[in-house]
Amino acid sequence: MRIDKAEVIVTSPDRNFVTLRLTTDEGHVGLGDATLNGRELAVVAYLKEHVVPLLLGRDPAAIEDTWQYLYRGAYWRRGPVTMAAIAAVDMALWDIKGKAAGMPVYQLLGGASRRGLLAYGHASGKTTDELFDSVRSHLEQGYRAIRIQTGVPGLKAIYGIASQGADAGDADVRYDHEPARRGALPMEEDWDTRAYLRHLPGVFEAVRNEFGPELPLLHDGHHRMTPIQAAKLGKDLEPYDLFWLEDCTPAENQEALRLVRQHTTTPLAIGEIFNTVWDFKDIIREQLIDYVRGAVTHMGGITPLKKTLDYAAMYQIKSGMHGPTDISPVGMAAAMHLGLAIHNFGIQEYMQHGTRTNEVFQQSFTWADGMLHPGDEPGLGVTLDVDEAGKYPYAQAYLPYNRLHDGTMHDW
Ligand SMILES: [Mg+2]
Repeated sequence: MRIDKAEVIVTSPDRNFVTLRLTTDEGHVGLGDATLNGRELAVVAYLKEHVVPLLLGRDPAAIEDTWQYLYRGAYWRRGPVTMAAIAAVDMALWDIKGKAAGMPVYQLLGGASRRGLLAYGHASGKTTDELFDSVRSHLEQGYRAIRIQTGVPGLKAIYGIASQGADAGDADVRYDHEPARRGALPMEEDWDTRAYLRHLPGVFEAVRNEFGPELPLLHDGHHRMTPIQAAKLGKDLEPYDLFWLEDCTPAENQEALRLVRQHTTTPLAIGEIFNTVWDFKDIIREQLIDYVRGAVTHMGGITPLKKTLDYAAMYQIKSGMHGPTDISPVGMAAAMHLGLAIHNFGIQEYMQHGTRTNEVFQQSFTWADGMLHPGDEPGLGVTLDVDEAGKYPYAQAYLPYNRLHDGTMHDW
């Protein structure tokens, strides 16, 4: 068998997605997600100009060798653009291997280690009342674990909080589809870490009082704190028994987590912007985190993320794969197959794509009783309707930027 055709498909049904579609001489089709939110077209060019010519004629069964060929062969290693491109190839090759074998990908990875994947959704609100409504709505949708994000008094707009800004007042507005709104320039938001640190513990106290001690609660710090601020927040949140505190400090400085760890037993999750096992190496070995947030789409594919998670398993560190709506249905399917197969699955982020996205990408996964399952169709279980995809051309969109009150650019 050889790879006959490699197409890069860009579509923007609810937001932008980049998909690699490989076709073999035997007619098998494999899909891979190459979406890099806000920098999508850089990956399109990388794939079209530098990867597709290398793939034509190759044996699609040689997944490990193709991965090494693209990673080592380029000389310039790592980085989000490179690794998203390699990830798409890796996913597409696993998809083809599954279809050729007549098996879902999770069977090729060792078979199911559980009946389904516990998934968490995103509840948010500018006020506690809005937040409670959002938590209730998620419980009604079947979620059994919920991320809590809240507005902060004095701050106008914060990423991760629904129904604000231009759409304030509309409770159904989903911030997650296009957080920056489509447009030529990103939206700017404001930030005050001290105000946030004063406000958040009281919100978690209110949520625990309202919804009880059993519901797993998560929170994302979006890289906004210094190490000592993160240590303080982790300590202040201990009474509310968080499932995890995510991205408490900017992830580039891994030593920061040593300081955080010395002060709190709140579990830590990190790594959604990491690209390779090398980004995780020290924080796994030193047991500075509890959950690996890497996404199949941004970590170079199923092959290297499985290796990273197997390494993490040696230290009882579990998976918590990144799963916002900018991971396409193909990337989500890859995460589900991997999560079902590995022993050290922890939880899967799951935000639910919009109707148009689900029409472009037909999917075999199931969502019931708070659990995801990738389904049993051969391969990844996703098909791409090219005609439907063609209705939605690329539309420039950015994540928001974040500034302090005095105008200083800040992490988010
Ligand atoms: Mg996050």
